Amino acid sequence: MKNKKVELWFVTGSQHLYGEETLKQVESDSGTIAEALDRSDDIPVKVVFKPVLTTADAITSICLEANNSPDCAGLIAWMHTFSPAKMWISGLKRLQKPLLHFHTQFNRDIPWSDIDMDFMNLNQSAHGDREFGFICTRLGLERKVVVGHWQDKEALKAIGTWSRAAAGALEARSLKVARFGDNMRDVAVTEGDKVSAQMHLDYEVHGYGVGDLADAVGKVSDRQISTLLRQYGDEYNAPAKTLASPAVREAARIEAGMRAFLEEGGFKAFTTNFEDLHGLVQLPGLAVQRLMADGYGFGAEGDWKTAALVRIMKVMAEGLEGGTSFMEDYTYHLEPQNMTALGAHMLEVCPSISSGKPALEVHPLGIGGRDDPARLVFKADTGKAIAASMIEMGDRFRLIVNNLKVVECPPMPMLPVASVLWKPEPDLRTAAAAWIYAGGAHHTGFSQSLTAEHMAEYAAITGTEFILIDQKCVIELLRKELRWNDLYYRMKPA
Ligand code: MN
Repeated sequence: MKNKKVELWFVTGSQHLYGEETLKQVESDSGTIAEALDRSDDIPVKVVFKPVLTTADAITSICLEANNSPDCAGLIAWMHTFSPAKMWISGLKRLQKPLLHFHTQFNRDIPWSDIDMDFMNLNQSAHGDREFGFICTRLGLERKVVVGHWQDKEALKAIGTWSRAAAGALEARSLKVARFGDNMRDVAVTEGDKVSAQMHLDYEVHGYGVGDLADAVGKVSDRQISTLLRQYGDEYNAPAKTLASPAVREAARIEAGMRAFLEEGGFKAFTTNFEDLHGLVQLPGLAVQRLMADGYGFGAEGDWKTAALVRIMKVMAEGLEGGTSFMEDYTYHLEPQNMTALGAHMLEVCPSISSGKPALEVHPLGIGGRDDPARLVFKADTGKAIAASMIEMGDRFRLIVNNLKVVECPPMPMLPVASVLWKPEPDLRTAAAAWIYAGGAHHTGFSQSLTAEHMAEYAAITGTEFILIDQKCVIELLRKELRWNDLYYRMKPA
């Protein structure tokens, strides 16, 4: 399943020294490789072949063209032959799109009995790509280097992983987050500098009074509500009595109003705040869950960083198996040999993380002081997942990722919300300590589709500090890494 709207441009470096005939061959070989990448199921976006580059002017103009193209998520560069890298300085200095350096070679094998200088000349990326690598390093350019033959599955998969991160970064360029109300009073981790976020992570955050949302909800017609109620009946386990209840009817009204507001403003992510519900009769639960299932990013209690992160993760995960949701580390099971964490929220967990049919239920909510809200209740599918938290450190953003294993959860008949039970890597004792040392939030983007590699590439592309908590995590090393990073980011030019 290809995302036809997102493109990677395949650019090949060479020079005129080789003569017309060799350059024709270079062009044909590059075209073959670009086409193979475009066809590969491991690369979820379009790969577009661009003419072979042999001059500084051509290189600079393709880089500027890439900057200006709303569909171009990044460049894949390959030096088929030697391409003197001073030619690349001007273009690479101006390039504002992610760069992947594909260190490949047209012929996979050396033809031992036939190899001659012609073969050598047409298969010289072994040194041509080193020249290119030097100038990227000299320019201090963040880029991904992938090594391997262009038909090698492992290399194609690595390009695919990176392309998802590039697609996420491209999404952020046009991403608008709507905040309904401010953040929950006195909470620190959900605060942050929206100007810094826009400068470093590209997305915009727009604030609205919750009354603006209430106005949109007030405009919803009875017909819109009936249409939604029919959908609820089809998609969820819901007794007729629940479907007919005023609470579910009101939830449908909130969904239709919220959806109209977001569509009209071009928002793909949003936040709510249970402390600020003026004009809404219940906390939006079902509406948030259904909007997330349709691809919207969400953060509760005004958490715009997590809302944007969830949207970007959903774009990165497009077409992969499993779901992606807003999540919170809610409560623990601390039995020493079987320590697990139960993830949930008051209401707002995305049903994409469950393959079962959710139950539509209405229950009282202890906080918020409003009417009983409707919500979908389900348990997440078991298997591998990640939790990711984007925090602001004052001078930079830090992305923290923990690998998780979602495990079977005992029945919890009294718990009226969607939930996920997991064991973090390497174990809860280490993972929770590491997370807390790193300053990770209680809110996360949770995904069964993405891996830590996807998130590491996204962090690299956006110049974000990346802290991984996986099977190899050793607390004392992590504490050193955090100290070293502090020094690095304070010395690094902005
Ligand atoms: Mn929360």
